[in-house]
Amino acid sequence: MSDLLARDLIRDVPDFPKPGILFKDITPVLEEPEAFRQVCRLLAEDARARGADVIVGIESRGFLFGVPIALDLNLPFAMARKLGKLPYDRISEEYALEYGTNTVEMHVDALQPGQKAYIVDDLLATGGTAAAASRLVKRLGGVVVGFGCLIELSFLNGRATLPDVPIKALMEF
Ligand code: AMP
Repeated sequence: MSDLLARDLIRDVPDFPKPGILFKDITPVLEEPEAFRQVCRLLAEDARARGADVIVGIESRGFLFGVPIALDLNLPFAMARKLGKLPYDRISEEYALEYGTNTVEMHVDALQPGQKAYIVDDLLATGGTAAAASRLVKRLGGVVVGFGCLIELSFLNGRATLPDVPIKALMEF
């Protein structure tokens, strides 16, 4: 595989959003179309290999990568949004974040029963967010066939929260 162009573009921001957190800022990747396209292509290849028939993006940075992947594969895109953002009937799951707690929601008709969902986010930390999104997919009758992200903070062992889900991370820290 060619070099991952995004690797040198991830910016470390210490003590954001609170002291002790080293925030991995992906915004420089968005400013470099070649690197942006490459990460989307690599994750799309994984989603295709997993047999996905719907892409689920986690708000908000999961949308940035999930939408181009869905379009590339000609698949529907479903949103997993933070509490209170979705207008229609929805289901909710609460989760613990590396820094606080949060709730993620999906519309009740975002997935059809039996659909194979590939979940996308920018980063896997403790895995709480990904696991909550996975629970939403399952409650809607979907099957989680994979989780794709740019960055995995492997020291937090987020994979343990998704033991049955193949995880593709393009970079590990
Ligand atoms: P977690 O639920 O702990 O796996 O956290 C993953 C979610 O929180 C993702 O949506 C990330 O965007 C965000 N996040 C958690 N930790 C970081 C970090 N150190 N740098 C950037 N984003 C993070």
